[in-house]
Amino acid sequence: MVAVLEGHDVGGTCVNRGCVPSKALLAAAGQVRSLREAHHLKQLGLSVQGVEFDRAGIAGHAKQLASTIQGNLRRSLEALGVDLLVGQGKFTGPHTLSYGLPGRVDVGGTVTARDIIIATGSVPFVPPGIAIDGKTVFTSDHALRLDWLPPWVAIIGSGYIGLEFSGRLHSSGVGGDVCGGAAGADARV
Ligand SMILES: Cc1cc2nc3c(=O)[nH]c(=O)nc-3n(C[C@H](O)[C@H](O)[C@H](O)COP(=O)(O)OP(=O)(O)OC[C@H]3O[C@@H](n4cnc5c(N)ncnc54)[C@H](O)[C@@H]3O)c2cc1C
Repeated sequence: MVAVLEGHDVGGTCVNRGCVPSKALLAAAGQVRSLREAHHLKQLGLSVQGVEFDRAGIAGHAKQLASTIQGNLRRSLEALGVDLLVGQGKFTGPHTLSYGLPGRVDVGGTVTARDIIIATGSVPFVPPGIAIDGKTVFTSDHALRLDWLPPWVAIIGSGYIGLEFSGRLHSSGVGGDVCGGAAGADARV
């Protein structure tokens, strides 16, 4: 018998805050960029007038995609007979976990298993001294669901996530700098 204990969203970062929504946003940004390359389009014998985009529509599509895949994953687990337990788990013994959600007395319990896989993933690293307010200073989690586009943004981290965001924001008319770590590079986009 298999049980999966999930404290937030089934599918984790990739489905809800990572690969899936970011690729949907990136695909839309790529289309906008291609359609605005008038010179290249002309070489192909094409011309497109006034390419506009609906920020909320693009964000809505990314959110819907994540939600659909999350639902499909949930149904797959159910069809396989996997028990899906909701709550943040913590060890109370070598083979025992208690789980629950803050403020929810209706959710939670205790589960015992001989074999336990810890697959708790990771969360965005915030350098010491930086206060996240979700409005002017935010992590990639917030950046995926911004309700507005800033005119200019500094991105800390030149890994693929930072570079993906820089490409997407640049295609949407946002200027910015990418600040790499010790081995990274600083670049203006
Ligand atoms: C913007 C962005 C784009 C990305 N794009 C790509 C990509 O294109 N390709 C790629 O390969 N990777 C990509 N990634 C990375 C990818 O999302 C992660 O590598 C992957 O999600 C890690 O999977 P995981 O199962 O280890 O952890 P996670 O996906 O983080 O899952 C861990 C789960 O454990 C849960 N959890 C944590 N602690 C507890 C607890 N105590 N009790 C119960 N549940 C708990 C969390 O809620 C979470 O759902 C991207 C990430 C981001 C942020």
